[in-house]
Amino acid sequence: MKILIVDDSPTPRLLLKRELEALGHECLVAEDGLEGWETFQGSGVDVVISDWMMPRMDGDQFCRKVRSDSDAPYAYFILLTSLDDRKHVVAGMQAGADDYLTKPFGDEELATRLIAATRVTELHRTLATQQKELERLNAVLVEDSRRDQLTGLGNRRRQDEDLKVLAARAERYGHAFGVALFDVDRFKAFNDTAGHLAGDDALKTVAGELIRQSREGDAVYRYGGEQLLVVFPDQSLDTTSTAAERMREAIEALSIPHPGLDPGGVVTVSAGVSCYHDEGQDDVERLLARADSALYNAKESGRNRVVSRERKQLLS
Ligand code: GH3
Ligand code: MG
Repeated sequence: MKILIVDDSPTPRLLLKRELEALGHECLVAEDGLEGWETFQGSGVDVVISDWMMPRMDGDQFCRKVRSDSDAPYAYFILLTSLDDRKHVVAGMQAGADDYLTKPFGDEELATRLIAATRVTELHRTLATQQKELERLNAVLVEDSRRDQLTGLGNRRRQDEDLKVLAARAERYGHAFGVALFDVDRFKAFNDTAGHLAGDDALKTVAGELIRQSREGDAVYRYGGEQLLVVFPDQSLDTTSTAAERMREAIEALSIPHPGLDPGGVVTVSAGVSCYHDEGQDDVERLLARADSALYNAKESGRNRVVSRERKQLLS
């Protein structure tokens, strides 16, 4: 084990160091609490054996500092007291010490304390490893619960969370943001002709193209079914429409054969665009309703096109 000895008396310090090294431990030494604290930080020490009455920083302060260091692995803290100093034992344990040794002590006493120290530090190390693993698994779960399995895009849950943040930002700072709701044209016919698995592949390709065409800060989500939503922070209705049109063209240019259409037909998308805050008060629900209404118009007017919807257009 790595053991830090903190004692302002040179002889006991040296004797203890020799004894511990003879037992096969690695030792660090410090002459008072302050030096002990400096040595302790980042050292990965397993056990601290510290005197109580010391200049500059006493054992109480030193022990509390060790206990408050949440970055350090757990260190087993043994308090050194002399026979006339036993009243400090309770204070030491309250400050966070695990055990105490009364000077002078024999080899067996020291060895006994170190057995307990090994047991407790190992337990703490195991718990810390398990805790880390739990945190990692939890992060994976959080990530998985917000990702669509098929496309790898953020799912509706993530979309709702992110839009909430963007809407709050828009309310506070007046930043506009645009959304484009894409829908694959005649996708039912694609599935009916080529099969559901081929449909899945086509949907994945379309999703991948939307990601490739989006710029830093933009985000793509699976809105549901064959509908994908792209969010464009800090963009107006016009610039969002331009970006959505670029995306629509890129998907058409992929030339994915659409077996449900006339020969030579390819997979295309329609999109409805709306912008948060383009006129007065707004909310996410209304923003998406406008995008959906614009998408409906895009479908009605022939598909494979982008239609934008201003707030006042929807109200009138
Ligand atoms: P429109 O151009 O009007 O959008 O026509 P459409 O056929 O795309 O629209 P419709 O709503 O009639 O059909 C959507 C189809 O999309 C039906 C549904 O089975 C299919 N679809 C939705 N999600 C998936 C998916 O994850 N994989 C596959 N393969 N198909 C999906
Ligand atoms: Mg469709």
